[in-house]
Amino acid sequence: MILIEHVMDVISRCCDRTAVLDFGRLVTEGTTQDVLADPVVAALYLGSLGADAPDDNGTALPSAGSMTALISVGGDDEHDGPLLSVQDVVVAYGDLQAIKGVSFDIARGECVALLGANGAGKSTMARAIAGAQPLRSGTIAFAGRSIAGLRPDRVTALGVAQCLEGRKIFGTLSIEENLIAGALGAPKPVVAERLEGIYDLFPVLKERRRSPGTALSGGQQQMLAIGRALMSAPRLVVFDEISLGLSPIAVDEVYAALVGIRASGAAMIVVEQSVDRALKVADRALVLSQGEITLQGTPMELLADERLLASYLG
Ligand code: ATP
Repeated sequence: MILIEHVMDVISRCCDRTAVLDFGRLVTEGTTQDVLADPVVAALYLGSLGADAPDDNGTALPSAGSMTALISVGGDDEHDGPLLSVQDVVVAYGDLQAIKGVSFDIARGECVALLGANGAGKSTMARAIAGAQPLRSGTIAFAGRSIAGLRPDRVTALGVAQCLEGRKIFGTLSIEENLIAGALGAPKPVVAERLEGIYDLFPVLKERRRSPGTALSGGQQQMLAIGRALMSAPRLVVFDEISLGLSPIAVDEVYAALVGIRASGAAMIVVEQSVDRALKVADRALVLSQGEITLQGTPMELLADERLLASYLG
């Protein structure tokens, strides 16, 4: 058999020999045991905090000033506790428990990366927070108010925006109409001000604002999806796999925008396969394994912890 697979558990249990490809190049091959122990393979999965960081590769970062107008942050609730509180959450698809009693908090302005191998439960957790996946049990509270069971549009109206996997651009709407759809019926002057903030962040969207949303490249469509999420002036944004399928340059641009959004004070949850990308922007990271949080800490703590690699490579 030849097995083409991301899931390392499957590879280590099934395959005698393994070859690793990266951007069309054979990186290494040999016995599965040797290949999984190869630091080059580890680097491909986890990356390294090296010179290609989005904030030091020459990519122009958006000014935090323009984003401050766009995102309403803190101050407008009397709640003293964490901005988001996830307690004992269980999410299941039929008999399969994808999230098995997960608890964590997110503070105002904090950027938390949600990491883990394929199938670990990251997207399920992101969808549960956004109101797109019902909970089997447990609670999710935003600014002290339960949001479990609310529809995604109600969750967004309370201040939790979502940029979920797949972008979901409206093909029949122009770029600007796609953005306006994210403003949830805010008054016209407010919409105009927020549009300017988005156009400052992603000038290409302004240049092409009359074109259909789907006439953009993959990276530009991701910018549109991020812009649309920001149009609701959120206090927490959930980003799910925003680098998926993008070229390295497009990923740099998208991550540069995240750095700007973080600087404006919005809290963020960044769900990512690309560990090094996420850890460069995050204050803290949680690692999911088979629906449970198995590791958490600051980026530096996690990178020094061999269990991080084990959670990806088995
Ligand atoms: P990936 O990085 O591959 O997207 P993930 O960490 O986001 O993985 P999830 O997509 O949340 O993981 O999947 C968690 C588990 O739930 C997996 O076992 C997956 O097969 C299962 N699952 C996800 N969506 C569904 C669904 N709609 N119906 C049934 N099972 C699902």
